[in-house]
Formats: sequence, structure tokens, C-alpha cells
Amino acid sequence: MLKKERAALVQRRLDELYPETPIPLDHSDAFTLLVAVLLSAQCTDKKVNEVTPELFRVAGTPQKMAALGQEKILEIIRPLGLSKQKAKSLDGLSKILIEKHAAQVPQSFEELEALPGVGHKTASVVMAQAFGVPAFPVDTHIHRLAQRWGLSNGKSVAQTEADLKKLFPRESWNKLHLQIIFYGREFCTARGCDGTKCDLCRDLYPNRKKPVALKKA
Ligand code: SF4
Repeated sequence: MLKKERAALVQRRLDELYPETPIPLDHSDAFTLLVAVLLSAQCTDKKVNEVTPELFRVAGTPQKMAALGQEKILEIIRPLGLSKQKAKSLDGLSKILIEKHAAQVPQSFEELEALPGVGHKTASVVMAQAFGVPAFPVDTHIHRLAQRWGLSNGKSVAQTEADLKKLFPRESWNKLHLQIIFYGREFCTARGCDGTKCDLCRDLYPNRKKPVALKKA
């Protein structure tokens, strides 16, 4: 099967499995989404959704977040991994939003990636899910599945993103990003699969005998 054919089959199956793609991180606007995505680094969405109700109750805007300050932010987000670093980033980025962006979340990759704690993946999620701009944020699930489905050689996260963008129509990127994450969470964990368990992998690679040697993100 050609790579393009594998991509088409993957997309068909994911559309059948996940016709709806609700955003997993609870939020009410671009700012609260940005905060939730930043908090989700090295942490599950479920855990993030446990701390954000209280955080957004007291600091749902850049002004309130900046007024709350690093120490108080830390008290609320302490159950999450990397909480000290994240509290510092939230305090810093809220101040920058107020000073440079009229307390609004900017709508460009460049401006988003200039904010503390915001890398390309976080910026891509915000551009896609807050502003509807086509993007293909690559997390560990997507990096892994792209290799197991033979859609990328997994040389780097940047390469996986470029490969997936080439293979799928631009208007489907935002949906596919979530569908692949849902599939990864439900079926395809980091370890324990020889690449022959799911119908999807079996159909993509009927002759596969050995596990796929994964390159890490
Ligand atoms: S067969 Fe294994 S590697 Fe392939 S998608 Fe299923 S769980 Fe993932």
C-alpha cells in the first residue's frame, strides 16, 4: 500500500470511530484554553481538568491571573507536574498579554511562541482550537502512531508534523489531530504492542511480523 493510500485508510477509519472531536481540555475562551494547554505539558488532560475549575474561578482573565501572582497560582496547580515552572510561565505570560496584546491572546504562531512556556505544539493547539486555523500539533501519541502507521519515519516531531501536513488535506488537520490522540489513548499505548493487534494496523500492514522500532519524540 502506498503512503497516500495508508493515509486515506487511516482517515476513513478515524472518521468512523470518532465522528465527533470534542476538545478534551475544559475552557471557555482563548485565554483559558491557552492556560489549560500550557498546564497539560507532561500531564494528563484529566488532571488538568481537575485543577482548572478553581484556577479559572479566581483567575479566568490575564488581569486576574497576573494579580493572583506566581505563589498563589502554584498553590492551585501544585498537583500537576512541573507546577513551579508552569506557575512562573502563567504569571509571566499574563503580564505580557496585558502589556503587549491588550489582554488578548494573539492570533499568530510567532507571537504565541514568544510567550513564556509556549512552544510550537502549544501554539498550534491554540491556533487550531481557539481560532480555527489549520495546524497539526504533534504530541507523543501522534508521533508514535505516525510511525506505526507508516506515515512518517519519525526522525523528529518537526518531521512528523511536516509529513502529516503533506499527506492530509489542510481542512482536516484540526480534526485529525484530535482523532489520532483519541485513537492513541484508546488503543495504542507506548509499550506492549507488536503492531498487529488492531484491525487498522493489520489492514495497513497485513504482512507485518515484527514490532515497529520506534523513534522517540
Ligand atoms: S496494532 Fe498496535 S501499533 Fe498498531 S495501532 Fe494497534 S495498538 Fe497501535
